[in-house]
Amino acid sequence: MDKKILILASGNKAKMKEIKELLPEFKIVGYKELGEDFEIEETGKTFYENALIKAKTIAEKYGLPTLSDDSGLCVKALGGAPGVYSARYAGTGNDEDNNRLLLKNLEGVKDRAAKFVCCTVFYLPDGKIFTETGETEGEILEKEEGENGFGYDPVFYSYDLKKSFGNACGEEKNAVSHRGRAMNKIAAIISENLKS
Ligand code: IMP
Repeated sequence: MDKKILILASGNKAKMKEIKELLPEFKIVGYKELGEDFEIEETGKTFYENALIKAKTIAEKYGLPTLSDDSGLCVKALGGAPGVYSARYAGTGNDEDNNRLLLKNLEGVKDRAAKFVCCTVFYLPDGKIFTETGETEGEILEKEEGENGFGYDPVFYSYDLKKSFGNACGEEKNAVSHRGRAMNKIAAIISENLKS
């Protein structure tokens, strides 16, 4: 049987790769593959608000059920920063710059506890909204370890894996990640509500 098509309101290739692995029962199609290449402005103050803006924008524009993911890193000693600003922390949109700034801001800090958060919204064109959140805990290393993954993965030591996400393979990360946990929860809801 053909897989049901699920539109993803994300243009982030690394995220899309993980979501394809996490939801293999669907054919994931990024919104940029629908024709128009534009950025969705993330003006929310919470992960949920941004996830809702992304899913709603695409669901209403194309009249298709849409899944979104808004995620980020929250560091205790920084009052939860970079949080919803994770992608733009250093102002350049570049992962290496973000990691460098994070390590600089944590120089000499002993309590390096942090968590990744992922909020996902599944938005139906009739306005029905489903949402789930996943979190994963760890701490920020003194320097980058490993080259796998994306974003803050090389500086995030996972308590579940007992190594950095940068040193984890995709399967290991997906089993414990914030995104893995959120997608596991929303998968059945999508199946029930997505018509073929
Ligand atoms: P968003 O695309 O606005 O949700 O921003 C997500 C940003 O949070 C990414 O650009 C990364 O900086 C960070 N982030 C979210 N999830 C992960 C992850 O799984 N690993 C590393 N960084 C992540």
